[in-house]
Amino acid sequence: MIDSKYFYQQAIALAAAGDELYQRGWVPATSGNFSCRLNADSAIVTASGKHKGRLNPSDFIAVDLKANAISSGKPSAETALHTQLYARFSAIGAVLHCHSPAATVLSMALAEHNELTLENYELLKAFDGVDTHAARVRIPIFANTQDINALALEADQYLAAHPLCPAYLIRGHGVYCWAKDLDSCMRNLEALDFLLHCELEKMRLCR
Ligand SMILES: [Zn+2]
Repeated sequence: MIDSKYFYQQAIALAAAGDELYQRGWVPATSGNFSCRLNADSAIVTASGKHKGRLNPSDFIAVDLKANAISSGKPSAETALHTQLYARFSAIGAVLHCHSPAATVLSMALAEHNELTLENYELLKAFDGVDTHAARVRIPIFANTQDINALALEADQYLAAHPLCPAYLIRGHGVYCWAKDLDSCMRNLEALDFLLHCELEKMRLCR
């Protein structure tokens, strides 16, 4: 049973986040998708093909955790990547997927790597559970594919072995980031994108 008032509140919050992320240039040309958990068995996700800087509450669909729509409309093509995260981690309340330039370019520049290790950055403390710059945060890089179910399975297997991982990159595509609620997810995403920029700058300097 969907709580329509809660659905509406979450839709408004996600639309505001979408506007901010669009202004940053992280979800160009209808790319990206966003979601929030509704309850233990369902989430609200962006409808397919919508401009992410101009979302309104009718641009969101309720889905079960197997990515099936349970309200009218067509959910994002990448819905299974969101629901995989809600199904695996009961504490997750929000998932944001962006196609930021830093995530797109760095994941391609690291063509020989399946993981990016972030360490010695003060801003690592923005991530939940990290309280020192000396921590190591590993971000996996998965190959891009149009087979979303296969990618969801690959992510699920990685996250089963690395439950503290806060995000992953898809090569040449973008980033998935999640957290206990939307505000935390926005903070994590902002921190991660800053760190991806730093990694790109380090690569330029070391060339
Ligand atoms: Zn995408």
